[in-house]
Amino acid sequence: MLVLNRGIIMNTFPNPKQYIAKVINKKYLNYKTLQVDFKVLTPKGFYFVPGQFINIKVTDSVYRSYSVCSDYKKKDFIGIILTVAHNGLGANYLKNISVGSEVTIIGPSGRLVLPDNLANNINIYVTGTGLTPMIPILMRLIDIKCKSKIRLYYGNRLFEDAFKLDFLNECKKKLYDFEYYIYVSQPTTDYSGLRGRITDNIVLEDPKNTQVLICGNPMMVSEIIEIFNERGVPSESIIHEKFVTSVRNV
Ligand SMILES: Cc1cc2nc3c(=O)[nH]c(=O)nc-3n(C[C@H](O)[C@H](O)[C@H](O)COP(=O)(O)OP(=O)(O)OC[C@H]3O[C@@H](n4cnc5c(N)ncnc54)[C@H](O)[C@@H]3O)c2cc1C
Repeated sequence: MLVLNRGIIMNTFPNPKQYIAKVINKKYLNYKTLQVDFKVLTPKGFYFVPGQFINIKVTDSVYRSYSVCSDYKKKDFIGIILTVAHNGLGANYLKNISVGSEVTIIGPSGRLVLPDNLANNINIYVTGTGLTPMIPILMRLIDIKCKSKIRLYYGNRLFEDAFKLDFLNECKKKLYDFEYYIYVSQPTTDYSGLRGRITDNIVLEDPKNTQVLICGNPMMVSEIIEIFNERGVPSESIIHEKFVTSVRNV
């Protein structure tokens, strides 16, 4: 069970349902990353567990999955963050949708959620928009005043691709022991930060007392699972979501 700050008790996994929601805001976070916010109109009562995703109907027969980035305490409110640099059905649909339009959503779904008992070390690995589900997860860790050592490794091709750094800096102030590291795999010549892939920079202090949360590029997710498995982290402590493309064409 998850108990919200306002004292509302929710089942850990709400049943996915069909909802009609209205676009209430659209904002580019950088040159290729778009945030879209929705207000759920019917039925009322949408909530999700931090880390879960929704499916949005983008044509009569095609749905696309997007993780929820918004505050889990705000009922009937959904924010998503997506890559829109490519020519994709979901990307084009959400790029072109107007504020005020209504969309069909099915959700929430997914099991990239925090375990009931948190380990002393929480290692988070994300690439690109894989950061999205970690936003409400970090909000939850702030709300419960988590005392774990939390380290987030955020991989991008360019430094400019990284987003929500204001939120991550806020987490540094609000969480007991939190640091984040941005790794850039194709840096420009003037870039002076961390270089390389997050998979090449794995730090593991105490395998039996570490939980690993991973999200983003499917190959990266598989690679990190394998590394932690080999280094003795139990499978149940490795929680992940692969952003596979074209997940649901119905
Ligand atoms: C559980 C889950 C959660 C997800 N959450 C998110 C999320 O929060 N944010 C998010 O952005 N995506 C997320 N995805 C991926 C998302 O659902 C889409 O599959 C993806 O964005 C591409 O859909 P599309 O319709 O835009 O492109 P498609 O029409 O499926 O593909 C068109 C072309 O674009 C290429 N392409 C697809 N994606 C990319 C990309 N990222 N970069 C470059 N080329 C690409 C394809 O290979 C194809 O050639 C999630 C996937 C899953 C399974």
